[in-house]
Amino acid sequence: MAKDFQKEFVDFEKIIKKNNPHADINLIKKAYDFAELHHRGQKRNSGEDYFIHPIAVAINLSNMALDDQTICAGLMHDVLEDTDVSKEEMEKEFGKEITFLVDGVTKLKQIKFESKEEKQAENIRKMVLAMSNDVRVVLIKLADRLHNMRTLEYKTEEKQKQTARETIEIYVPLAHRLGIYTIKWELEDLCFRYLNPQEYYELAQMVHIKRREREAYINEIIETLDKALQSTKIDYEITGRPKSLYSIYKKMKRNDIEFDEIYDLTAVRVLVDTIADCYEVLGKVHSIWKPIPNRIKDYIGQPKPNGYKSLHTTVFGDDSKPFEVQIRTRKMHYECEYGIAAHWKYKENKTKSTEFDERLTFIRQILDWQKDGGKDINNKEFMEILKGDFFSREIYVYSPKGEIYNLPMNSCAIDFAYRVHTEVGNSCVGAKVNGKMVPISQKLHTGDVIEILTSKNSQGPSRDWLNIVQSNQAKSKIKQFFKKHSKEDNIEIGKELLDKEFKKHDSNYKKLIEDKFYDEVAGEFGFPTRDEMYASIGFGKTSVEQVIQKLIKKYKSENDTEVVEEKIDIPKTKAKSAYGSEIKVSDFDEDIEVKLAKCCNPVPGDKIIGYITKGNGISVHVRSCPNIVNLKTPERLIDVYWRNSRADKFPVRIEVITRDETGVLYQITKLMSSENVSIQAMNVRKNGDDEGLVDMTVQVLNIEELNDLLMKLKSLKQVENAYRVKI
Ligand code: MN
Repeated sequence: MAKDFQKEFVDFEKIIKKNNPHADINLIKKAYDFAELHHRGQKRNSGEDYFIHPIAVAINLSNMALDDQTICAGLMHDVLEDTDVSKEEMEKEFGKEITFLVDGVTKLKQIKFESKEEKQAENIRKMVLAMSNDVRVVLIKLADRLHNMRTLEYKTEEKQKQTARETIEIYVPLAHRLGIYTIKWELEDLCFRYLNPQEYYELAQMVHIKRREREAYINEIIETLDKALQSTKIDYEITGRPKSLYSIYKKMKRNDIEFDEIYDLTAVRVLVDTIADCYEVLGKVHSIWKPIPNRIKDYIGQPKPNGYKSLHTTVFGDDSKPFEVQIRTRKMHYECEYGIAAHWKYKENKTKSTEFDERLTFIRQILDWQKDGGKDINNKEFMEILKGDFFSREIYVYSPKGEIYNLPMNSCAIDFAYRVHTEVGNSCVGAKVNGKMVPISQKLHTGDVIEILTSKNSQGPSRDWLNIVQSNQAKSKIKQFFKKHSKEDNIEIGKELLDKEFKKHDSNYKKLIEDKFYDEVAGEFGFPTRDEMYASIGFGKTSVEQVIQKLIKKYKSENDTEVVEEKIDIPKTKAKSAYGSEIKVSDFDEDIEVKLAKCCNPVPGDKIIGYITKGNGISVHVRSCPNIVNLKTPERLIDVYWRNSRADKFPVRIEVITRDETGVLYQITKLMSSENVSIQAMNVRKNGDDEGLVDMTVQVLNIEELNDLLMKLKSLKQVENAYRVKI
């Protein structure tokens, strides 16, 4: 029995009005009736009336807050193709703009994606052209694809797989590129379900079982955060957000881990009004829970190429169970959910939106490029440019079993091998792409099927691979391999590099610098021995330039320490610093304020020198502190000494370089507490692609205790290096 679509309109209208109170309901109702009339009698594969589909598409568009014209076009998007209505008739009823949109979608719909790449290129070229005329055409197409994917169960298995493949290869990257995450995630999950059904349902089952437990945990977190934020003036909203199945799956594959090891199945999201509020909330979060290094991502300071903005951090909750917190403004959130569509409104109101323009730049680039003789470039190249640069920073490839892997664009078989497993990467000797043997350095493309050939006799990765691979994962695993396997080589390379670098400076320095300076500089960088320092230089971790600078400074400071004696008025003040009593200033009484300089934080045992400040007493520096070495007013220096008796601990700033591994912060803080060292301040940030940097100020008794602590830190598995910071 046919549905009563007049009754149905009541609910439809409610949704439209909720999304846009000023919507032109008369116009929309006219399009609704027009489409319903012409589709009447047509059925979908599910047996339902065909018209439920255009309604669903129009609702998707309304949820993206698109304008009345787009919603009308959504309602009528299949009319020109599937009914007798002509373009002229529609234009007479609805005008040029709406008809243009429907016609655009109809043309796009005629694109049939073939497996042959050449054909696809032509199709995408059409799509891009349609998009450049009016991006709303492509948004309607995405809304259409979303509903078709949601109702894919009614199609044959073959059709399901074909549509899902086409969706993950074309529409998911398109949604990503346009920054429409809600649609991207939903499409990905739907594709995953039809392409890898067994894994999809297994995972869905596991997620379901843990749901209650997870929800309770998240509620607890929200409550704690809510309490902390109530004391601020921030207007905030906190919600728990389930992670999409496909992103969980990707993570398991990428990190080679089991479901049980995935901790951030749910993230907490905080929405606020201003950017300043975002950072304040981040600070609050870190004051309640300890952050994991490398997991603090500032996409506000550095937005993603598609315009995504947000702060992300992963912190340790109770029982060291980590979870993710995303913080962004309400505006950013809206733009992130609806991407380019969110900007459409601004454009329509003739308000300048540079972000919108930026997002469209890539389309313009294609057009310009076509004008400039681009017609000569064949479809295959065009396709590569689209798939690579313009559509996505990612490619999707398959294993011979049909499992999907996503890799950064320009990845090669080696990237794929390391994505599958570290051992597969380390023993990779060759690769087949789509059944053909190819060089392992050959670039992969979305849709490729890759088979990795391994050998037990493989000598491991080649150093050149570091220049070939694209993924950070492969890079860090290759580096790890070399680190383990050739320390001796690295020491030799390090020495050579140091020699070469000396030649860039005054080569006399090489002769002048005494052996003990090397040991001291190695110590300052936190290396237990000189060889360790050479190895780190050879490995490319420590900058040879920095080492030379320190050596030269050391030489200079040991050789120009004559202090010009001159009478200077010392400001008398009664104030004493906490540590002032630890230091004796030659020739002065106890009433001078003595402060430890913040730049170098001297610790008992350090060679120190005092600097007479203008009006703030004496600040005590380490003798090798660059501020002292490069001092323009040496006449203000004064000898100071450590007293023998002391009870207090001293603050020292140290830096710990960590590998991108979970649990590292926990290990560090655990060590601190077992060593009875208290942490005054801690700051965690990303240091390059696969490293974290923990910058902290700790309290130690003396230099011996500090060195001991640094040694212990370095012995931790996840710690690459630990050293005292000397600016
Ligand atoms: Mn449709």
